[in-house]
Amino acid sequence: MTAVTPGLVCAHHHLYSALARGMPSPPRTPRDFPEILELVWWRLDVALDLEMIRWSAMLGALEALEQGTTAIVDHHESPQAIEGSLTVIAEACAEVGIRVVCAYGVTDRHGPDGARRGLEENRRFLAEGGRGMVGLHAAFTCEDSTLEQAAGLAAEFGVGVHIHVCEDRVDADAPRRLAPFTDERWVLAHGVHLPDDHALAGTIVHNPRSNLNNGVGYARPARFTNPVALGSDGIGAAMLDEFAFAYFCHRADDVTADPQTAWSWLENGRNLVPEVLGDRVTWSYEPVDPWYVAYTPGIRPLRVEVGGEIVWDEGRPTRVDPDEIRAKAAEQARRLHARL
Ligand SMILES: [Zn+2]
Repeated sequence: MTAVTPGLVCAHHHLYSALARGMPSPPRTPRDFPEILELVWWRLDVALDLEMIRWSAMLGALEALEQGTTAIVDHHESPQAIEGSLTVIAEACAEVGIRVVCAYGVTDRHGPDGARRGLEENRRFLAEGGRGMVGLHAAFTCEDSTLEQAAGLAAEFGVGVHIHVCEDRVDADAPRRLAPFTDERWVLAHGVHLPDDHALAGTIVHNPRSNLNNGVGYARPARFTNPVALGSDGIGAAMLDEFAFAYFCHRADDVTADPQTAWSWLENGRNLVPEVLGDRVTWSYEPVDPWYVAYTPGIRPLRVEVGGEIVWDEGRPTRVDPDEIRAKAAEQARRLHARL
């Protein structure tokens, strides 16, 4: 039995993190979220070059496609390889055959020049007609002037800002600092520690598996009046799995929770990339219904059509060689890990 649906959307991803798997252990075990950033992610992102970014994006796009995810809302950072990085990611996804909305995560962590170059990469990509948003890492790593410039740039191009908001208590000040700028086009990743009356506009992206992994707490997204969508925060793009995590986290918090709520979050991702409504995914299983999917592991697409082209058929991508992608990504991962 098979079923056909539109494509799924991963509403918050970091394609560059595909090469993090198996990385060397940090010098000591991180004890909280700021230490996870400092000892893991900020050591990794600073070591990235464009060739690593290309193959991590190819691998991430391939892994999205094999899960029926036809669009990724990506958030990228590579402080030593900023210029051109968004184009590398966009081209990799196009080569595999999926959609991507790119953003460079601007930050003042590397001084004002780093922030300026990040803003400029967003501007360049959007000015060249790229499908993107303006990225900010998070309010707690940005000066007020950087937040203002990013918001202005997004308004200039008629797009939203893609930013981490209150993923951890360290970012508690974000609602106050972002309040003057947000609108409904913004993508607010995490929101774990957002107060109920936060007053920010935009789609809140819930990343249940990542939040569990980082021990930052449960976002309780059902409390928000904003639209809520689902993301992976870089842990692949298996959105049916992410839906199940969202449902079980909801259920752990409230045993009366119905999977329809988490399913509506999954479906809301399509509002961020409406073109996926025209994509067709033929699943190995039916019905594709929340009460069935939540308890059925291993549902896979048999065929995926993006923009009228079949890009996945009979368990394989049609446009690229998956063995080559995995081999090249492994080679780049070895280069990356050697720099850590
Ligand atoms: Zn993230």
